[in-house]
Amino acid sequence: MSEQAIADRGLADALGAERALQPGGNLRRAWEELLAEARRCTRCHLYKCATQTVFGEGPLNARILFIGEQPGDQEDLAGRPFVGPAGQLFDQALEKAGIDRAETYVTNAVKHFKFVQRGKKRIHDKPNAGEITACRWWQEQERALVKPPVTVALGATAARSLFGKVVTIGKLRGAPHQLADGSECWVTVHPSFLLRMPDEVRRREERARFVEDLILIRKRAARLVA
Ligand code: SF4
Repeated sequence: MSEQAIADRGLADALGAERALQPGGNLRRAWEELLAEARRCTRCHLYKCATQTVFGEGPLNARILFIGEQPGDQEDLAGRPFVGPAGQLFDQALEKAGIDRAETYVTNAVKHFKFVQRGKKRIHDKPNAGEITACRWWQEQERALVKPPVTVALGATAARSLFGKVVTIGKLRGAPHQLADGSECWVTVHPSFLLRMPDEVRRREERARFVEDLILIRKRAARLVA
């Protein structure tokens, strides 16, 4: 299948999944227009090598909006965020925390997969400041449409995109913070950080801590909409 065909299928899948979650409405149309626009984005060079734009997905009335770093190899091919190994770990943690992913909106700070080609493998490469800044506009548009009571930055790239500057995850973790638009943001680690930890004991501890963060976030979001 050609890259264009994969991208077209990705758009059709994304629209189909969203329609199933939330039919009709001006908000829905605005989101579809945004998605179509994002899929043509050339604001930075990353669109040139990636298969397709991986936009956010989820109900537009979500209480919690998660922002990750960027799509990985599997997300790039599928056209959906958090479907690879980190996504599976994310799903497990959400379940343990009592959060239904289908009720959340999930997106990335950078919408195209950045990688280094090594033989047949595409190795993840961290987005730089210019790429994060260029792509920031899209997450701002998504948040403006969804207006979530709680936005969650998963990792340093997402936090940088949300706060517009480098922040330390360890210092911000576990408490609410206010974004420039007045909305509430929480910060925690990216699931891929938990996948990479070589020490098993530490990995188990950090996974448990991640779930604790998500429980706090669930409770906070419920309180804000009560
Ligand atoms: S990474 Fe973001 S800003 Fe860059 S081309 Fe893709 S969608 Fe546009």
